[in-house]
Amino acid sequence: MLVIRNISALYPCDRRDEAPVLGAWIEIESGRIKAVGKEPYPGADAHRSVDARGKVALPGLINMHHHFFQSLTRVIPTGMFAHAIEWLRAMYPLWQEIDAQALHAACQLTAAELLLTGTTTSIDHAYLYPAGQHDLMDTEIAAVKPLGLRIHAIRGSAPRLEGTIEHDLAADPRLAAISLVEDDDDIVAACERALEQHHETGPDSRVRIGLGPTQIPYRNPGLVRRLQALAEHTGCDRHTHLTPVPADLELCLQLNGCRPTEHLRRIGWLAPRSVLAHCTRHTAEDIASIAGTGGAVVHCPSQNIRLGTPVGPIPEMVRAGVPVAIGVDGAASNDGGGILTEMRLALLMHRLAGTHDDYGPEQWLKPQDILWMVTRGAAEILGRPELGHIASGKAADIVLVNLKQVGYAGGLHDPLACILMSADTAMVDTAIVGGDIVVEGGELRTASAARIIDDANRESARLIRQSEARTGIPFNSLAPRLAEMI
Ligand SMILES: [Zn+2]
Repeated sequence: MLVIRNISALYPCDRRDEAPVLGAWIEIESGRIKAVGKEPYPGADAHRSVDARGKVALPGLINMHHHFFQSLTRVIPTGMFAHAIEWLRAMYPLWQEIDAQALHAACQLTAAELLLTGTTTSIDHAYLYPAGQHDLMDTEIAAVKPLGLRIHAIRGSAPRLEGTIEHDLAADPRLAAISLVEDDDDIVAACERALEQHHETGPDSRVRIGLGPTQIPYRNPGLVRRLQALAEHTGCDRHTHLTPVPADLELCLQLNGCRPTEHLRRIGWLAPRSVLAHCTRHTAEDIASIAGTGGAVVHCPSQNIRLGTPVGPIPEMVRAGVPVAIGVDGAASNDGGGILTEMRLALLMHRLAGTHDDYGPEQWLKPQDILWMVTRGAAEILGRPELGHIASGKAADIVLVNLKQVGYAGGLHDPLACILMSADTAMVDTAIVGGDIVVEGGELRTASAARIIDDANRESARLIRQSEARTGIPFNSLAPRLAEMI
């Protein structure tokens, strides 16, 4: 048995509007929370214990959108000053080079970063399988498992590329060999195989598989039907981006007679455990299409700012009863993976003048609303009531944030608001997953962070060298030189 003692402030997420419990303890046994109470702890002192004096305890945070493979391609100079389509066009020649060795390094790096910053369960929307490497998901699972992160790995797919990118790449002789699109049979077979091999259904599961293309292919309803049938049959997660560029919006209107969100509602794609990422261009009509279906939206604030998207109608969705979660998104468009940072931005960015009608200080999202989105709210979307809640019988996924830091001092008035609004750091002190301490004193315990950093820098530099050699396009990257110097 493990006991966390002397917790200065505990937010169990019993209710949305709760005040913290000051001076608390948590008993953990066999991966589950056995009991929670206020000090003094009535049990024997012989148990293994963690002293959490000066720390805030939160349920393990749930990150609902990511692309792990992108972690080797943060801050690529040629993609740093571009909207989404131009950014993707700059990134695809680099992502074409990803192989099992690079993906292993990227996934270990991502899992380490997520755990160190408080995420204990994460979705990975893994949609890119370059050059016919359909089974790269095996590599991902093998890389993530030893680090201890719970993962919902979405066996995504790219049945086509966004906007005119496919056409643009084919028209450029340097890029014509890029092969990122999979055909329908390969996609469905890979989803079936990933579900068969890796999908764990029990309440303590560390690996779950889901499916969903990176975007809905409106000209290919057959693939969407097949994926939907597989999701309904297995009860797995569904996940896709939904921020149609104007041409895709027009195409959907023309082919289906309605807007994309309404189309997804009509075909039954929107359902419990179905998640739409971003939705930054959603109208009141789109919000009405999602509300009540069980489908949910993931808000990724840093990605919105980085790529210069519109500010999505998140408060409006919350008001309409749409389940909203928070995601860090891939590290090529964030470029960090800390969920606390996203929580801070989700709390603050919608207050900007001119972003929302009828959103005055009385309506502003509160720190408790944001915490709920990454705990109980996200767990409900995933259909996992055992997550996101510090209570007897729930999974022992817990993070401790150290309040005794310079950037938090003077802010003890409201510890949760202090963590989210002061944001001295995105790192947590301790992360526990299923009763296992995976981060302690701000250090990863399940693997060598130094080795993960070296592997990631080496593989990132290799991707640059290979892509430049293959395409002749310079990325203006210092990584190949610096990776050997640090
Ligand atoms: Zn994304």
